Amino acid sequence: MRKIGVLTSGGDSPGMNAAIRAVVRSAIYHDIKVVGIKKGYEGLINGDIEDMNLSSVADIIHRGGTILRTARSEEFKAERGFQKALNVISIFGIEGIVVIGGDGSFRGAEKLSQAGIKTIGLPGTIDNDLAYTDFTIGFDTAVNTVVNAISNIRDTSTSHGRANIIEVMGRHCGDIALYAGLAGGAESIIVPEVPFSIDDICKRLIQGRNRGKLHSIIILAEGVLKDSHEFAKQIEEKTGIETKLTILGHIQRGGSPTAFDRILASRMGGRAVELMMEDKTSRVLGIKGNEIIDMDISEALSIKKEINKNLYELAKILSI
Ligand code: ATP
Repeated sequence: MRKIGVLTSGGDSPGMNAAIRAVVRSAIYHDIKVVGIKKGYEGLINGDIEDMNLSSVADIIHRGGTILRTARSEEFKAERGFQKALNVISIFGIEGIVVIGGDGSFRGAEKLSQAGIKTIGLPGTIDNDLAYTDFTIGFDTAVNTVVNAISNIRDTSTSHGRANIIEVMGRHCGDIALYAGLAGGAESIIVPEVPFSIDDICKRLIQGRNRGKLHSIIILAEGVLKDSHEFAKQIEEKTGIETKLTILGHIQRGGSPTAFDRILASRMGGRAVELMMEDKTSRVLGIKGNEIIDMDISEALSIKKEINKNLYELAKILSI
């Protein structure tokens, strides 16, 4: 293995920079040349590629976002765009590519690998929606951002005796809502994977108020409801408790990565280079019980993500 490329693709997540740094530095340590491919598969198609050295990744371990930038490329999905990408890979003499991104990015890596390019995928997404790994890079930071927001909202919520709905990211996967809700002591957690009843939520609010609770937090994963403003209105009408809605939005995608995410990204980045050297490619990296694992890309993508029912039930028990 003489030369590898690294790219970030799809939605960005805190810790992507730590992962890039680990790939670049590990490769250089092992005398492998490394290039940075800008803006994901779009940059691969356009040859937007630059040599990386030790200094290219200096002073980035603590930064959110991705220095390589990211994109979603429809062109890459089409045969013509894909062929262009293969040509660029050949022209630049790239023998392997480390793809940092979510499930869509992994589908792209799977396609490259079927075309004979050595690929390794690192799970970079705040959503934690990849079933083969316990955690993805960026999830822990996003959860901590939400927990901080819950604490801030709880302060003012208590002063006014209000209920607060906090809408968090996770269109198809409720992990951010679940973990942040548990850590933030939310009264109710609404996720796409579990049906809910508004009457049940209202009952919990009323019971809480009757035993003297001054605040109530409801964590709502985005995409569960069409109109969360309407939902807040309905709760207020049914309970008589003033109910405010806060939509956290993109605040969850940025910020300095937590130590957990930096360590996870560093471990995975280092392991990706080792796997390239062992010629064990077409793999994605994950973490299971604090061990870094690797799995065939197609196999990993075929596993269906499910919500952790035990955590969900625990959160419910603890919020009575
Ligand atoms: P996030 O989890 O943050 O959404 P993602 O990696 O899932 O990240 P996507 O937009 O789904 O984000 O995918 C990123 C890019 O990967 C796409 O823009 C496209 O270039 C490529 N890609 C996605 N699906 C495929 C596919 N089936 N075949 C080839 N390339 C794909």
